[in-house]
Amino acid sequence: MFEFSERLRKLPPYLFVELDRLKAEARAKGMDVIDLGVGDPDLPTPPHIVKAGKRALEKPENHHYPSSVGMMAFREAVVEWFRNRFGVELDPATEVVTLIGSKEAIAHFPLAFVNPGDVVLVPTPAYPVYHIGTLFAGGETYYLPLTAENDFKPDLSAIPGEVLSRARILWINYPNNPTTAVVTREWFAEVVAFAREHRLIVAHDAAYSELYYDGYVPPSILEVPGAKEVAIEFHSLSKTYCMTGWRIGFAVGGAELVKGLVTVKNNVDSGCFQAVQEAGIAALTGPQDCVAEHRRIFDERRRVMLEGLQKLGFEVYPPKATFYLWVRVPEGYTSAEFCARLIKEAGIVVTPGNGFGEPGEGFFRIALTVGKDRLEEALGRLAALNL
Ligand SMILES: *Cc1c(COP(=O)(O)O)cnc(C)c1O
Repeated sequence: MFEFSERLRKLPPYLFVELDRLKAEARAKGMDVIDLGVGDPDLPTPPHIVKAGKRALEKPENHHYPSSVGMMAFREAVVEWFRNRFGVELDPATEVVTLIGSKEAIAHFPLAFVNPGDVVLVPTPAYPVYHIGTLFAGGETYYLPLTAENDFKPDLSAIPGEVLSRARILWINYPNNPTTAVVTREWFAEVVAFAREHRLIVAHDAAYSELYYDGYVPPSILEVPGAKEVAIEFHSLSKTYCMTGWRIGFAVGGAELVKGLVTVKNNVDSGCFQAVQEAGIAALTGPQDCVAEHRRIFDERRRVMLEGLQKLGFEVYPPKATFYLWVRVPEGYTSAEFCARLIKEAGIVVTPGNGFGEPGEGFFRIALTVGKDRLEEALGRLAALNL
């Protein structure tokens, strides 16, 4: 009886329908499915964080409405963590906001700065929410392709002047999901200069900033002098502390940009549960060896899978960060065909690259979110396929 709004009808088609069907079919047949599709760590939240959350749950003062901007104590914990990690100073009162996971803020942010008809520059392949947030705000997405030729970085000089003059936000995401690409502080400096020149907001999604390997350490865009005038950075405790279910993150950056986001949040949500924020404080200010341990585990899996895939003749981009591998599909297949064959014949679920955007065609993404023994099992099954 009721038709969905145009914005819902304009949502991109859910490209994993066929994949989900094949996955269900394989399970129904009794196949032992190895799911390397989901970007959700299999490891539990570290016990000291859970304990802090439990204690906080008992406190009656946490049973009331929180504030949309977040507890001052959490924002102060962010300031301290940010100073230790990136050497950047932040004002907890105006330059930090607590998020209910970074996804809600990525989706909400354009509502604060985009008018109908404005352009938002969005990388592709990418996390789908940059485009969807734009769509919900009535903006127009202009896609910036990430390809192997440009090291999976957008070519800013290729954006037509007409588009640039209407553009309000430039989304970037490094370490990158799904391509695993990383960047330097120098590249961030170029982006900040470009944004100043064209009066653009740079919105940087830093969800994977703490999962890095091989001596590489991801920078924050806020390390660039003057970046706060044009940049806002979205952080998440989800991947770093294995807290995807708790829903907590934060955004940091220029006071004006943070204020815009807080104003939207004031009007659509009432903030993050304070017990979760207290768990977040324990995560950010407590011992960081749990993060080193998460890195060690993902690094071990990364090495096993990388070496195994290369032995089988796959072309893989050795990731310096994230818990993914971005791999070329073998010659003669589309991404969808290859992924379908992996489920049907080997019970292995991976994500077709084109599901993240057209330039992802010809690739697939592996999430290292199962144990080493299961990855070895997957490699054995791949070898038996004789591709
Ligand atoms: C996982 C992820 C997020 C956000 O996760 P939250 O749990 O909402 O904080 C954001 N961006 C990318 C690219 C991700 O992969």
